[in-house]
Amino acid sequence: MKLGRFIVETHCHAQRHAVRIQDHGDESNYETLPDKMKMAVPADEAADDADVVVYDNSERVLRDMDTYDVDMCVLLPSFGMTNEINRQIIEAHPEQFIAAAAPVQTKKQALQGEREWSWERAAEELDEWLQLDGFRMTGEGIRGDPTRTEPIAWAQRKQDLRHVFDVAAKHDVPVRWHTGYVSGYGGAHGLFNLYPDWQDPTLASQLKAEYPEVPIIFDHGGMQAGWQEKYVEKCCQVAGSFDDVYLEIGLYWADLMKKPMNDPNISIDQLLWGTDWGASMVQHHQPNEDPPVFWEQIEHRGLPAHQPDYWGASLRQLQTFARERDLPQDDLNLILSGNAVRLFDIDVPDDRMFQRYLNV
Ligand SMILES: [Zn+2]
Repeated sequence: MKLGRFIVETHCHAQRHAVRIQDHGDESNYETLPDKMKMAVPADEAADDADVVVYDNSERVLRDMDTYDVDMCVLLPSFGMTNEINRQIIEAHPEQFIAAAAPVQTKKQALQGEREWSWERAAEELDEWLQLDGFRMTGEGIRGDPTRTEPIAWAQRKQDLRHVFDVAAKHDVPVRWHTGYVSGYGGAHGLFNLYPDWQDPTLASQLKAEYPEVPIIFDHGGMQAGWQEKYVEKCCQVAGSFDDVYLEIGLYWADLMKKPMNDPNISIDQLLWGTDWGASMVQHHQPNEDPPVFWEQIEHRGLPAHQPDYWGASLRQLQTFARERDLPQDDLNLILSGNAVRLFDIDVPDDRMFQRYLNV
């Protein structure tokens, strides 16, 4: 049975990397992989010797959408995935996809040494994408100069982030704020302390206070990978203070969902079903332990060659949580799509699918 009457996945990567570092003799070396992924070249433009290419993987997304009755997905670029490929996917399936915009070209040019990173150009690139139909938010997360390896002070970082918030305010769209870290393949090397706002999601409250009209979505709601709950707690603190700060709970295990649900200052209206479809984490399983499952990059297994099944796993956790709590279906429908429909201005077949009461 379908878990709700309409389902929107708010965090989907419909592009996939093909990695050719094996051909170059450094098979077990993940250290250089994240940087190479960021410079990934679209498959149809790639030279034969490109280390990493990125290609349209929407056929697999569509098959999973069919399998799990997911009606729509928000496409996110990251790690060299391009806005352009996402645009093509939306054009081919306008009923099923919308996207977030990221300054991908500005970043790639800086990484390739063609042009130094500038926030002004990053903002221009965002502005251009947000003018296109289907691009309804910024993200995933906010990075910055990709060549930077030194931690940045919050006072400076806050000024940088304003570039993104200004564009979002102009287009009346939400900003995605990344939270959580992965561990296994070296992607977080040097990243833990690089951005103070990743380390401490409560800093989002400062930008939120400055931009009351711009909603913030915490990518992964503080739980991207691993078992540490500290980022979840910080995300909940901010969501408890602002009605239009949203948490993606798609990577939470069932018990963790209680954290925002039990907070009297966080409403059901602030939860989104966003996983990380297309990402490289797999599930770690430790039966009868707490937590029984969590997502992580697991180094000794190597990179997954299969497409990890985020939706089957995530919907099962949500169902367990909903069943144990006897969650009303109208509430569950908000998590599964109603909130996303409202936030991203999505057209739906019927305008009375989600709970709304007339306060007289
Ligand atoms: Zn992601």
